[in-house]
Amino acid sequence: MSSRTPLIAGNWKMNKTPSEGAELARALAAQVGTESAVQIVLCPPFTALASVSQAVDGTHLAVGAQNMHDKASGAFTGEVSAAMLRGLHVSHVILGHSERRSIFGEDDAFINRKVLAALEASLKPILCVGELLSEREAGRTNEVVRVQVEKGLAGVPAGKAEQVVIAYEPVWAIGTGKTATPAMAQEVHAFIRGLLSAQFGAETAGRIRILYGGSMKPDNADALLAEHDIDGGLIGGASLEAKGFIELVRSASRSLGG
Ligand code: PEP
Repeated sequence: MSSRTPLIAGNWKMNKTPSEGAELARALAAQVGTESAVQIVLCPPFTALASVSQAVDGTHLAVGAQNMHDKASGAFTGEVSAAMLRGLHVSHVILGHSERRSIFGEDDAFINRKVLAALEASLKPILCVGELLSEREAGRTNEVVRVQVEKGLAGVPAGKAEQVVIAYEPVWAIGTGKTATPAMAQEVHAFIRGLLSAQFGAETAGRIRILYGGSMKPDNADALLAEHDIDGGLIGGASLEAKGFIELVRSASRSLGG
């Protein structure tokens, strides 16, 4: 058990219209809207942020975006800024998801600018890192994760480091049904905590949440969340139905007792 408040975040990806999103958010709010031991963040697509924010207003549920641009405004067709997200009561933003890196070509320098812009706007970045299967098989997991963490967090002031959340998401486990074993995940989480400690000091590193992501489901969550350095989950597929997502919140709550 650690002193860090567990965090369960649902990454809805490109799913749910504004009304479908509000319906799911209301169902979640009815069941876990007063949960205070676990922080819960719903990350719908941009178009459902307003309706989801409204649906969770007055509850403990928080709302996150799945991406943003680092600039404040200007000629960036199709993009949104941190201030625009703040205007919709968004508190978190997923940055550097492997789908953004691989499909949309985002590199560590761009992701780093977004992390800094998010913090500047008082948005909490959920920085995603993780290796490809080929990189794991070549024994390069730590090297890949180290570069993504160090470049992603370059220039983050120590005073704001606790606002950052890291999500370790082995790319081969995302949406594939393959999960890292708890021991495999813990090994990388502990390695990441060491990197955070080198950059920000042990005390601050001890307060930063490191989530696991990659086919986390009710039947594997207890074992993953029991690991010392796994502080919650970034959930894709299993966040689209209220029942499974609520079970994950319950797992995180149980992990506090262990
Ligand atoms: C994700 O995309 O962040 C994710 C973890 O997806 P899934 O849970 O579906 O593997």
